[in-house]
Amino acid sequence: MEIIIVGAGIGGLAAAIALAKDGHQVRLVERSGEFTAAGAGIVLAPNAVQVLASLGVSLAGEGQVLASTEITDKAGRRLANLSPARLATAHGPSYGITRARVHELLAAALPAGVEVIFDASVRSVEDDGSRVHLGSSAGELSAEAVVAADGLRSAVRAQLPTGPGALRYSGTTCWRGVIDFEPGQVATEAWGGHTRVGVVPVGGGRAYYYLVATAEPEASGPSDLAGFTELFDGYGGVAGELLAELRQVPPLHHDLLELDRPVWGAGRVLLLGDAAHSMTPNQGQGAVMAIEDAKALMLAVRGGAEGALARYTAARHARVRKVQLDSRRLGEVAHWRNPVAMAVRNFGMRLTPQSAGDATLAALVRPGIELAVAK
Ligand SMILES: Cc1cc2nc3c(=O)[nH]c(=O)nc-3n(C[C@H](O)[C@H](O)[C@H](O)COP(=O)(O)OP(=O)(O)OC[C@H]3O[C@@H](n4cnc5c(N)ncnc54)[C@H](O)[C@@H]3O)c2cc1C
Repeated sequence: MEIIIVGAGIGGLAAAIALAKDGHQVRLVERSGEFTAAGAGIVLAPNAVQVLASLGVSLAGEGQVLASTEITDKAGRRLANLSPARLATAHGPSYGITRARVHELLAAALPAGVEVIFDASVRSVEDDGSRVHLGSSAGELSAEAVVAADGLRSAVRAQLPTGPGALRYSGTTCWRGVIDFEPGQVATEAWGGHTRVGVVPVGGGRAYYYLVATAEPEASGPSDLAGFTELFDGYGGVAGELLAELRQVPPLHHDLLELDRPVWGAGRVLLLGDAAHSMTPNQGQGAVMAIEDAKALMLAVRGGAEGALARYTAARHARVRKVQLDSRRLGEVAHWRNPVAMAVRNFGMRLTPQSAGDATLAALVRPGIELAVAK
């Protein structure tokens, strides 16, 4: 089948690999002039790692295998320890890795037959997937199906009969960067009330960090390092050590927005990744779900373009919606500011048996799709 994929982010690249390996003729249309990785670092949980491996993309030897993720209070005292490595059913490891490296690995794994069209911004598509209209005078492309992986503000989603879908502000804003810092093999997220600090080793003596604060939408936040020191004052443990190492204002700043509910497509236009279900990053599953989508979509189109959307939606909706809503709730709980509520929450988290946390984690990081090995 001739398939056009719009957007060469993690989701679009994974879909291009999956569909091309499954025998389809794939064109990948990207508005940038090259493969670009927006963002600093990322955690790829075992469900992503396993799907990527089934597509022939190995993370072995890349980034940093994470022994566990620790949730701590502001002082650095442990509230919970999440460790896929400890799970009885072997799910394999999570990785902390730079986004640039993820893009390099995915781009290198693109099968030779995939045609990549850079500097081409898609303006609209026909619902029957027959045509993709490019911006300015670049013309149009024809296909039998279109996969839109064009991100949170998807231009393709905006012009489908289902409408653009409402974006929802999480009430939090986030700064990110990568720094020379050795946090060992453990990722840490420290909850400080109206702020939160994450530190993720990405290998090579470097760490990806994210600083989250409760804020009005589009608030600018501190403009200099002193302002950050004040906003994120009082952290202990690894978060405090990381903050003490900051020498410049974090290079990336975004409000954390999500799509209110998933939109899977219309006719022969199938949405994938953030275009379909952008979610808050509180469980580190946005890109992971995009990677799962890619494999599920490949399986759905095996039965032909007709009916693929229904098969794909049936395969993905319940799982993705649960992850999206769980992530939303987790972000709300993490930013509780009432000291009594925080103390009760922290006490409850410390008392939660490890087995309960492991069971929840196991359900999350088990790929929600069939893992048949692709050609
Ligand atoms: C602070 C933060 C931390 C996160 N941490 C994690 C994490 O640890 N683990 C995790 O799994 N997820 C994480 N995520 C989520 C993850 O970043 C996203 O879910 C993921 O990058 C989405 O990938 P995508 O390919 O769907 O979309 P995008 O990465 O947005 O890619 C879209 C692509 O489409 C292109 N494009 C857009 N419009 C057009 C057009 N009209 N025509 C042609 N091309 C177009 C863009 O240039 C881009 O290349 C995090 C997100 C944030 C904000």
